[in-house]
Amino acid sequence: MSIRLSFYGAAGQVTGSMYLLEAAGGRFLLDAGLFQGRRSETHDLNLRLPFDPRRLDGVVLSHAHIDHSGRLPLLVRNGFHGPIHTTPATRDLCAVMLPDAAHIQEKDFEFLQRRGKAGEQSEPLYSMADAVATQELMVGVPYHRITHLRKHLALEFLDAGHILGSASVDIRITEPGGHRLVFSGDVGRSGLPIIRDPQPPSGPIDTLIVESTYADRSHESVADAEARLGETVRRVAARGGKILVPAFALGRCQELVYSLHQLWRAGKIPEIPIYVDSPLAVDITTVFRMHPEVFDQREHLVASESRLFDFPLIRYIRQVEESKALNAANGPAVIIAASGMVESGRILHHLINEIGDHRNLVLIVGFQAEHTLGRRIQEGANPVRIFGDEYPVRAEVETIGGYSAHADRGELLAWVRRLGGPIRRAFVVHGEAAALDAMAKLLRDAGVRDVRVPQHGETFDL
Ligand SMILES: [Zn+2]
Repeated sequence: MSIRLSFYGAAGQVTGSMYLLEAAGGRFLLDAGLFQGRRSETHDLNLRLPFDPRRLDGVVLSHAHIDHSGRLPLLVRNGFHGPIHTTPATRDLCAVMLPDAAHIQEKDFEFLQRRGKAGEQSEPLYSMADAVATQELMVGVPYHRITHLRKHLALEFLDAGHILGSASVDIRITEPGGHRLVFSGDVGRSGLPIIRDPQPPSGPIDTLIVESTYADRSHESVADAEARLGETVRRVAARGGKILVPAFALGRCQELVYSLHQLWRAGKIPEIPIYVDSPLAVDITTVFRMHPEVFDQREHLVASESRLFDFPLIRYIRQVEESKALNAANGPAVIIAASGMVESGRILHHLINEIGDHRNLVLIVGFQAEHTLGRRIQEGANPVRIFGDEYPVRAEVETIGGYSAHADRGELLAWVRRLGGPIRRAFVVHGEAAALDAMAKLLRDAGVRDVRVPQHGETFDL
């Protein structure tokens, strides 16, 4: 029996998740994520696929985040036409996320063309048509349904508890000798709003591929985060200010809406309008409404799942005119808008109008990468530059870290312990250097003898 595993992304880094598994006479890709970051550093990595997509027998997709799904349309553009196995919720989220990714690339290219700065590096990786064609290949496989990709290769998805539809992947190769490979996907946290807690596979594992994003740090609890959110809304509303929340359209936005709904029902926030000002977030919220079957059933505060995201204070905004009208409105309000790291999108326009008012507050709830405007605001830069102009920062700035969708060190350890084991060999992926090292040590301390941190492009015979 020959089994080969090659690491073509999120190996020694965080983004670009992509692993090639050759087993049971087939070639399967685990994830096809986009490398994110400066275009000059990522464009070639994204563009040049290290294998022929026409020779793949299928793709297995762990979840809809772009750093896991964003190269699927590139595979299709290069001739891939096999099935893409993923959970039904991830399939439907991709129907929104991948066309949006294509749209952003096309828009960026047009913008640079108009400025005479468009070069080979700025050409879109794929088109809207490629994104739509990708959707045709998606096959929805519910959690716990064992599916045979080949005669001797079976697949089962388990809830990774990270975002809606996110999965850990349990692959069993039943050729003589047998082999069980588990890919963690992105591991979520206990107590995250809406979705269920992570549910790792259990029993002996031959090969584990495990993420390590936050293996070197700890988060505040989700309950503490919600309490702080309530306190912040009360305080800013009392002084007549607005709360501006840059948030990722997928995951963070719905969690905040859910938390605000709970706080309102419990009488812990005043009756002020809450705006979700992002067409993508509105579309994604629609997909959430389609998949109550994967919601956490223990939530009693919300009477009906269909009304999870609807309560009297909330308004969803698509049109630009409506978005602009928010700036003229007086009085306290919460405005949630993309992008999550304040690099683009409607949040920029709201900041231009509101960041100079001392009554207002900018609430950071997500990871802010280096060199982003969100990071500069978080670190207290003043003034800040938006679209080439400088604006003084008089608004208060606060960070609530507890809404992270990634397991921290303690939660990763709990996940590994629940696998039970023994684990014969582990590959640590999806982390910056310190996190990769921390996760490797955590696994060794947990009794895994063979722990490796693969480099980009490395291949292993299992
Ligand atoms: Zn993710």
